[in-house]
Amino acid sequence: MNFTVTILGSGAALPTLKRMPSAQYVNCNNRHFLIDCAEGTQIQLRKFKVHFQKISHVFISHLHGDHYFGLVGLLSSMNLLGREKSIHIYGPPALEEILMLQLQHGTSKLSYQIEFHELNFDEKELILEDDVLEVFSFPLKHKIPTCGFLIKEKPKKLKINTEKLKGKDIEIEDYQRLQNAQDIKLKNGELLSYKEVTFEPHPPMSYAYCSDTKKDERISTFIKGCTALYHESTFLKKEKSIAKSTMHSTTTDAAEIASLASAKSLYVGHISSRYKSDEDFISELKEVFGNSHVTHDGLIIDLFKQ
Ligand SMILES: [Zn+2]
Repeated sequence: MNFTVTILGSGAALPTLKRMPSAQYVNCNNRHFLIDCAEGTQIQLRKFKVHFQKISHVFISHLHGDHYFGLVGLLSSMNLLGREKSIHIYGPPALEEILMLQLQHGTSKLSYQIEFHELNFDEKELILEDDVLEVFSFPLKHKIPTCGFLIKEKPKKLKINTEKLKGKDIEIEDYQRLQNAQDIKLKNGELLSYKEVTFEPHPPMSYAYCSDTKKDERISTFIKGCTALYHESTFLKKEKSIAKSTMHSTTTDAAEIASLASAKSLYVGHISSRYKSDEDFISELKEVFGNSHVTHDGLIIDLFKQ
């Protein structure tokens, strides 16, 4: 079991040598997702050793360039490298039109299919589900329609304590019954309680991504109890008025949302290129929410260690 997030870009609109704009790679129990895909994302994927053909789903939060200008380049490279497996892209409806126009006017016909899914910018919505996880989109408050994303593990089955089962003759189906919290009867008539031979699994974990947005308390209800929250904090407190006019958040805004959502940990990013150091961010965040961190490009967040 694994659940990690690799920060590919931790900066706001302007790419710098220190911080590239928004993109994140999520590996949730070997499901491989990309959230946002700013300019240079494919280089960041290489730099941080992510095999990008593994990515099966891409979630684009909104159509400001610092969140998707790298997408057509990444799709083209996937094509050049002989991708055959289709890719699912979730985003605003116009994204499909933009991508198709870019691809049509080039020479290349892709060697794989793009499955496009339109996001709902009004309500929280389940957009992807399989046997181990669910992905939801939910509306943020920004200058143009913008979604956040919540990746949530499903409750896990009980774990078998193999030591306790040594020497017992157990059918395959009975293993499954034990994992589903059912008692079983052995061939010799012995009753076996699942409680005696199983461990509680790790509680399901969840990761919430919120960029870009002004402070909106409704967000905390969409992501309640998440394990780790990534929330943009483009500005420090003193730039509050710029945050307001550009519909972005400050440190305090992000920390208050983490607190309202009862998140276990907070990671901030989308840091404006005007700031040279993380120190003021950390101290302002911790005034409100103790378990706060400032992201940097290449940071790996391990959901098991929050
Ligand atoms: Zn934006």
